[in-house]
Amino acid sequence: MTRTPVFFIGHGSPMNAIQENDFTHALNRMRDYCPHPKAILCISAHWMTEGSWVTQMEHPKTIHDFYGFPKALFDVTYPAPGSREIADLICKTIPSIHPDKEAWGLDHGSWSVLRHVYPAADIPVLQLSLYLSQGAEYHYQLGQALRPLREQGVLIVGSGNVVHNLRTIDFRDNAPALEWAVEYDRWIAEQISTRNYQKLITDFTKTQSGKLSVPTPEHYLPLLYALGASDEKDKLHYQFEGIQNGSISMRTIVLGDHLP
Ligand code: ZN
Repeated sequence: MTRTPVFFIGHGSPMNAIQENDFTHALNRMRDYCPHPKAILCISAHWMTEGSWVTQMEHPKTIHDFYGFPKALFDVTYPAPGSREIADLICKTIPSIHPDKEAWGLDHGSWSVLRHVYPAADIPVLQLSLYLSQGAEYHYQLGQALRPLREQGVLIVGSGNVVHNLRTIDFRDNAPALEWAVEYDRWIAEQISTRNYQKLITDFTKTQSGKLSVPTPEHYLPLLYALGASDEKDKLHYQFEGIQNGSISMRTIVLGDHLP
């Protein structure tokens, strides 16, 4: 069995869930890299916990974890099943991960993008939480520990944004990208392209553009799971690049053995 690729998706505003734009079109084409995963394990920026938890329920609920958006967005459901079997496998393989029977489900970090990649919602989806009080190294290492799941057909998807500053957000159509956001997004791409992951673990807020782009870590950390779950055999492809709302990077990445 060939192993699954790894995705990192820049999810941006929840509105992308019900819009059609260049970004969502790029997501539509992402399925080509992994047409039939056995399950999807999504590390979303929006589930922050003490400890690392994986959803274990058979029918994870669609969580609308935002406010002030149109009713159409609250009407969206993503009824993908869960998988107790995969959750148990994860907890057995990595004992520091606990099973979550009822607290969570699928938050918009997962469903707002997955509905564009796998619109039929027929593939089991699990979420892994972010143990937020842990440093970057913990998250990268947990990504490494997840890597063998790729041999089992599990698609690992990090969902966050490498530049995510809500204070500087600009909701106008075609808002211009802020200079520091572009600069930092390019720096990130450079480190990924040269596989300089150590810098992404230790130096990601050392510069002024880094401090502005990652004011809080939750949207950045899912990238480290994706990178940890990949290795030198994986080829790299940028599925989408761009800045939405002035200061949200939508950079979306595929890492895989055989990219078409
Ligand atoms: Zn988000």
